[in-house]
Amino acid sequence: MSSYLVLARKYRPQNFDELVGQEVLVTTLSNAITNNRLHHAYILTGIRGVGKTTTARIIAKTLNCLNIDAVKNAKACDICDNCKMIAASKHQDVIEIDAASRTGVDDIREIIDSVAYAPVMAKYKIYIIDEVHMLSNSAFNALLKTLEEPPAHVKFIFATTEIRKVPITILSRCQRFDLRRLDEKEIEIHLENILQKENFEAEKQALELIAKMSEGSVRDSLSLLDQALASNNHKKFLSAQLVEKMLGLTDKIKTIELFESLLQGDFSSALKNFFEFYSHSSDVLQLLHDLLEITHKITSVKLVQDYKLEGYSKSQHEKIAAIATKISLNSLTRIWQMFSKGISEINFSSSPKMAFEMLMVRICHMIALPNLQQVLLSVNEAQNPVAQKSGETNDLKSDDLVNEILRNFEGAKLI
Ligand SMILES: [Zn+2]
Repeated sequence: MSSYLVLARKYRPQNFDELVGQEVLVTTLSNAITNNRLHHAYILTGIRGVGKTTTARIIAKTLNCLNIDAVKNAKACDICDNCKMIAASKHQDVIEIDAASRTGVDDIREIIDSVAYAPVMAKYKIYIIDEVHMLSNSAFNALLKTLEEPPAHVKFIFATTEIRKVPITILSRCQRFDLRRLDEKEIEIHLENILQKENFEAEKQALELIAKMSEGSVRDSLSLLDQALASNNHKKFLSAQLVEKMLGLTDKIKTIELFESLLQGDFSSALKNFFEFYSHSSDVLQLLHDLLEITHKITSVKLVQDYKLEGYSKSQHEKIAAIATKISLNSLTRIWQMFSKGISEINFSSSPKMAFEMLMVRICHMIALPNLQQVLLSVNEAQNPVAQKSGETNDLKSDDLVNEILRNFEGAKLI
């Protein structure tokens, strides 16, 4: 696979019509180019990996393409010298600057001085400044004057992930485009198309997982897909199981299973789950933190309708939802306390493994105790059969007593 080209590079959009999910920007910019109504400065903002520098290069290519119809159709030819050099970031009239590494006023002064000179081989001299918010205040001030009245042959394209850090004086001189993050479905479809072109197949859930983990960034989704294909030895079929493993979701499944064993008071099964974990990691504290996270997620799912579980697969989500319906809130807060207390116990223990096992014993023991609430209620019923049926006031008193005892009793059954 020496000739293998990473997907993010191979499928980097080369023209406006290939930009996924940025319809507003594409329409506005294409119209501006076709009608020759170009701004002298643009600022592109959006999360990382959403296509800001790619868009900047597409603008640069379309404006400087040597093909006679490029401007008319707002589509670069991709084969002329200008197009090729711009795509490779090697064109001397298209200057790409990373403001993260060149933040000072001297760097900007260099640019300002060169602005006056005409382009060498293209129509426009285009300055692409990435992460422009990183520039120093004095650098912004120096840039401001040039931005007010740049020569006709100069265009500025700024890109930033943090638009709020760009001074308003700069913003007011640029046309702004917000590149939106893609939703999971859009990314999934995009990945599916690419796999088809590459002659691969993937389980639907595998792509769903990658789309979910890439949080709206096309670039991240493609590098995750690349990783998945590589760890699958570039076999033709990509399974959800492999992607789960790659994303570290298998550990989550094991943690949920351990949690379930504890809830059932099944110590031997819990111990088995724990040994499986311990055979490849001795970080018991991490396991405890994961269990706390699961407890928190189950509680959230129980309390908040349509709670969005980030970083969990569909089947894990279903499992968590099923546990949430079975367990009471009271029990969840108790378990949370026991796990939290377990952290300091494990920190101070000479054997974290033993301390964790004892913690599991305590939880299972607590679960195995009879359900005190029901015992007390049935005692209550046996003592006051008439009152129960007719719903008289003395019934209330007994209920209060039951609740009082329950409140003071530490070992009430959890579920
Ligand atoms: Zn061209």
